[in-house]
Amino acid sequence: MRITDLKCAVLGGSPVVRITTDAGIEGYGQAEHFKSYLKPHVLFYRDFILGQDPTDVERVMLRIRRLGSFKPWGSAVSAIEMALWDIAGQAAGVPVYKLLGGKVRDKVLVYNGARRSPMAGQEPEHYAENMARMAEFSEGFAIIKQGIGFHSPMPDLVEDFYYGESLDVYHQTERGLLTEKGLKHVVACVEAMKDALGDRVGLALDCGPGWTVPDAIRLAKAVEGLHIMWLEDTITGDYTPYVLAELYRELTRSTSTPIHTGEQIYLRQHFKPLFEMQAVNIIGPDPADIGGIAELKWVAEYADLHGILMAPHGTGDGLIGLAALVQAAAAMPRNYIAFEYPVGRPDWWYDIVDGLPNPIVENSYITVWDRPGLGVSLNKTAASKYLEADDKDFFN
Ligand SMILES: [Mg+2]
Repeated sequence: MRITDLKCAVLGGSPVVRITTDAGIEGYGQAEHFKSYLKPHVLFYRDFILGQDPTDVERVMLRIRRLGSFKPWGSAVSAIEMALWDIAGQAAGVPVYKLLGGKVRDKVLVYNGARRSPMAGQEPEHYAENMARMAEFSEGFAIIKQGIGFHSPMPDLVEDFYYGESLDVYHQTERGLLTEKGLKHVVACVEAMKDALGDRVGLALDCGPGWTVPDAIRLAKAVEGLHIMWLEDTITGDYTPYVLAELYRELTRSTSTPIHTGEQIYLRQHFKPLFEMQAVNIIGPDPADIGGIAELKWVAEYADLHGILMAPHGTGDGLIGLAALVQAAAAMPRNYIAFEYPVGRPDWWYDIVDGLPNPIVENSYITVWDRPGLGVSLNKTAASKYLEADDKDFFN
């Protein structure tokens, strides 16, 4: 079998990859819906993979993997990798998880980081109300993640929150030492959310990046009695093109609160210092950023060897990304906790994808489906009407 084409369309903001073959099998991949700008980056790889056998996934990946990088520049490579596995699974007549070593679990736990309810403000009572509403969602999420600190509007909306100034450019660039008032505000909001949830639902906190080590230690210690699931991305994180494992190690060593990072990290090599230095307790790589499904599975095994847990990121990965997460999570070792459940945005995404269960999530679990490949595909008739003018030949 040979690859005959690599195409990319932007569907409702999401870059969607379609790889076609001379056997009539086609595969799909998807990157985060905030990354519509990736289309030319996906197409950059086209000439590198045309004519290759897509079922030799690793051999194809060797041709393009070195030409990717940390978030967002690993996404195009990752989405192509998903599409290759989709084809390989269909060609073999098995779900992708079979090709990753087989299923370890029949249903995968997910957590809520994407299904939101509007926030009325930035005071503790607003966080508590918001959390109480999300705890009633029909998916019955066992864990809910909330943004706080630099991963929330607090730096802009809470007066005298930190010693620094906003760059006011793309995505979470604030950084600096918090004021005493600022840190107390964060802790008060966390306490209010825990009061709302009790011990029925786990609370995870997405914090940064942008925290200094002393503030991150203060926060982690201040919430030690609250059984927080994890503190995500304090020091580095979203769109930070480096890891700083030695700083995470200092934080992790100082507290019993589980420390988490890794959604922006590309490839196994960049997880090496986090693992070997025991720098974090949990990692959250995203299959649409790390380099793909198999890279995520490989890193999960490597983490398990080091006693490090898995809570993969996925908030913007869309419904094809959801399928990739389900396949990878089904095959992960038992250091797996839950992945971040992506939702279809806009809502019409649910009308253009075939193969998903309904409802998708029950009691915070997704039952792993057994259809070949990723097990989902685009409904061409339904999807065509949402194609933008310069993507009209996407399904040709
Ligand atoms: Mg995050």
